[in-house]
Amino acid sequence: MPHEVKLPAVKLWGGDFYNEGVTGEILFDKLKEECGVFGVFGHPEASHLCYYGLHALQHRGQESGGICTTDGSQFHYHRGMGLVKEVFDNDKLASLKGSIAIAHVRYSTAGESKLANAQPLVFKYREGDLAVATNGNIVNAPEIRKDLERQGSIFQTSSDTEVVAHLIARSKHDDIVEAAREALVKLNGAYAFLFMTNGKLIAARDPHGLRPFVLGKLGDAYVFASETCAFDAVGAEYVRDIEPGELLILDGSGLKEDRFTEKTKRAVCAMEYIYFSRPDSDIDAVNVHSARKRMGRRLAIESFVDADIVTGVPDSSISAAIGYAEQTGIPYELGLIKNRYTGRTFIQPSQELREQGVKMKLSAVRGVVEGKRVVMIDDSIVRGTTSLRIVNLLREAGAKEVHVRISSPPFKNPCFYGIDTPSRKELIGAQKTIEEIRKAINADSLHFLSKEGLVESIGHLHGETQGGHCTACFDNMYPTQVPDEETAACGCD
Ligand code: SF4
Repeated sequence: MPHEVKLPAVKLWGGDFYNEGVTGEILFDKLKEECGVFGVFGHPEASHLCYYGLHALQHRGQESGGICTTDGSQFHYHRGMGLVKEVFDNDKLASLKGSIAIAHVRYSTAGESKLANAQPLVFKYREGDLAVATNGNIVNAPEIRKDLERQGSIFQTSSDTEVVAHLIARSKHDDIVEAAREALVKLNGAYAFLFMTNGKLIAARDPHGLRPFVLGKLGDAYVFASETCAFDAVGAEYVRDIEPGELLILDGSGLKEDRFTEKTKRAVCAMEYIYFSRPDSDIDAVNVHSARKRMGRRLAIESFVDADIVTGVPDSSISAAIGYAEQTGIPYELGLIKNRYTGRTFIQPSQELREQGVKMKLSAVRGVVEGKRVVMIDDSIVRGTTSLRIVNLLREAGAKEVHVRISSPPFKNPCFYGIDTPSRKELIGAQKTIEEIRKAINADSLHFLSKEGLVESIGHLHGETQGGHCTACFDNMYPTQVPDEETAACGCD
């Protein structure tokens, strides 16, 4: 007789939702943002604050959104596919009662875009209700999941978050804080976690602080967010960044600052500064727009070229382009315009439609670039296909020369920490020399920012001697153990 293991009950909630269905983004050769989390403790309008907070974090995920609140005795929640403004309306928000809430916007890799994975995930386990929202990726989640399945656990989603919920449910500790602590030390990866019960809100940041996570105050209430721009949206005051390995607990007795591990080494994702985060956010006390401007200035020092105008690929490269223009004295011009109203369309990923997708999103301004030698600043090159199209847009609009300057080093290695990146085989930075890339994107010249230039532009976070950043996608120096690329799947959970 096989030994029978008695399992604690863990059950995914059902619940109402609408707006189901997968919408497709216009395909664009850019890295995909991960997810965003927002939390409130002690505010009577918690669900409305979450709505505005999520709205400010929409750039971090556009596939689904969700809010879960508690009135102290039961949960109220709503999740849906689509943008925050499509998922929620006044009636939905009014039905989310209570002064404690956690909320989430999600981006997922293709094929995983389904409502079951939308967050917050809400569970019933032996100690009551539990809601979980996270931004990041648990590198060892597949192993933990297999282990749990061998022991009898049944999973209802493909989300790493459910793995963590099972770890909590199986903990020998009844206390949620101790159970969360026990689960967190088993994880390897990048995460900003929010856990909620009917009386507690718990926040945890991974031991490397890979994903950003901040604490704020709004009157007597506490708020949490992936980025500080969400605090500005709700009028909250930034208090501080949550430290790597830190565990913050809020309940009726106030805020308790604790840690789940002392083994920490700061390695904040450099791509948050280069591309992902909003320019008005501060990450680990460094403003994103200012860091990008310094990247542009440094790029100009490292790779000056005589030209008539500097232009940035909107939106994420505009700050670096301003920096490049300031440093060189070459005027900054709006040579490229982004069409903000393309919306979300159902298109097939054929080559022809990809081309059209870029034209729908970006236009070159003929009156600005015609007959000019143009320096085009972009934040990164992934496969090279988008860069080629943008260079060609500028040429078609009459640019005499197009000099491409990239405000980050060549992107050579995949990310395992919640950023959806193609495999090394598809990364042009891993496959070609800089001269080969220049030819492939049809540029007159091409330069990338050096890694030293990048680190100095961001600055040494909290005085860390080695900078305190993760730069693995440029230098292959991963801050944690990573799996074999061929078997790994990484998207934001
Ligand atoms: S590998 Fe790159 S994208 Fe991933 S966390 Fe590190 S710096 Fe960020």
